[in-house]
Amino acid sequence: MIKSKDLTITKAHEALKRGDFSCKELAEAYLKTINEKNKELNAYLEVYDDVLTQAEAAQEKFKDGTATILTGIPFALKDNILVKGHIASASSKILGNHVAVYDATVIKELKKHGVVFLGRTNMDEFAMGSSTQTSAYGVTRNPRDVTRVPGGSSGGSAAALASDMTLGALGTETCGSVREPASFCGLVGLKPTYGALSRHGIIAMGNSLDQVSPFGKEVLDVEIIFNALSKHDPEDSTSLPENAREAKSSKALRIGVPWHLFKDGVEEAVMQNFKESIEKLKNAGYEIVNIELPYSKYSLAAYYIIMPAEVSTNLSRFDGIRYGYSAKGETLSDVYKKSRGEGFGPEARRRILLGTYVLSHGYHDAYYNKAVKVREKIKQEVLKAYESVDLIATPTTPMPAFKIGEKMNDPVAMYLCDIFSAPANLAGVPSLALPSGHTEGGLPLSIQFMARHFHEDDLFSVGKKFETL
Ligand code: GLN
Repeated sequence: MIKSKDLTITKAHEALKRGDFSCKELAEAYLKTINEKNKELNAYLEVYDDVLTQAEAAQEKFKDGTATILTGIPFALKDNILVKGHIASASSKILGNHVAVYDATVIKELKKHGVVFLGRTNMDEFAMGSSTQTSAYGVTRNPRDVTRVPGGSSGGSAAALASDMTLGALGTETCGSVREPASFCGLVGLKPTYGALSRHGIIAMGNSLDQVSPFGKEVLDVEIIFNALSKHDPEDSTSLPENAREAKSSKALRIGVPWHLFKDGVEEAVMQNFKESIEKLKNAGYEIVNIELPYSKYSLAAYYIIMPAEVSTNLSRFDGIRYGYSAKGETLSDVYKKSRGEGFGPEARRRILLGTYVLSHGYHDAYYNKAVKVREKIKQEVLKAYESVDLIATPTTPMPAFKIGEKMNDPVAMYLCDIFSAPANLAGVPSLALPSGHTEGGLPLSIQFMARHFHEDDLFSVGKKFETL
């Protein structure tokens, strides 16, 4: 009997090596849980029909000695990652029937390891949202409390992992889309340095911000996935060459806390828990330094201008002609209008409008160009902070998981969920979110750390230490 609840990637690997169970038996155990739980949670939009064949191929690697730590590990994939021959819809109606014609680079890499892909998971449409409620295929429920959202936009992958419907999971981040659901579902989530993991074959939202990002049940799980995927990819012009990646880091012992950012809008339970976490770190020997990040309060404003600008450009390729959904029309322009009008959901349309506006003649200086300048200021001040500290700590989200239906009629309230996520994405630095306790009602709470570019090792080290505190 496989107890998937107790498994981590390392434990599963040891068991596969010892022959306690086979890759096929492991895959079957997860398929069984999916059968039992997915109907209620709606984490998977599709379970692949070749799971057991993949598992058998993985078993061969154990036989011929080419197995790695990821061989045979079941993975859930966010619906915006291309897997050749499978649908990748970004949870949008407009791509509902879009079958990928090639593998994303991260998929190619995982295939080399013999990872077993279980299926694709629900997400906010085109990764726009913080709750997985903007999907065209229904909401995903939080396994910790099914009346609540799992966070977003990678909520399906998070819910799948938190309910033992997978052991490994990939999401993507443009602004917190892995750290937020990790926080709401009691998981670990890593947003890697921009340029560390290839974006080739990922359905783009905001190119200058997007990054494939792993979830794990513990810090070591995300470290294993990150190490397998962090490498230069010539197919992605924003992927950094190996010689531009900094060497491994030293001891990161000084943690900066921008207390001034937490004045408004952070729920009491979150603040209380964060203070306790900082106390624990202090007692464990970390030096806690009060830092000021004056420009960071503008990060949400900058993000919600830069991101829609990039969204409006990226989504212009979905016109009813080249990809996916196509509505009938009298003229070509009719086809464009109807396909886009019917194919995109309200949040995607809102962002296309916003983005088109901030880029339009007469306004791009006032909005887009200004936001780009503010982004640079934020990046500079984060880098400056690293002159006196090694890490920056904040709560991951200002609130724990909220009720399904909440904030859907108030986009600005929804956007405020991203307040602590935005600086890392805007500055391109890595950030790790991990569980830090629970509310009285049992909802997961989370702390996040940011480090210097390519200093993921500092995050893994503080994260693993924090797990023992
Ligand atoms: N909450 C963010 C947004 O709505 C999530 C973006 C992301 O990380 N994909 O834009």
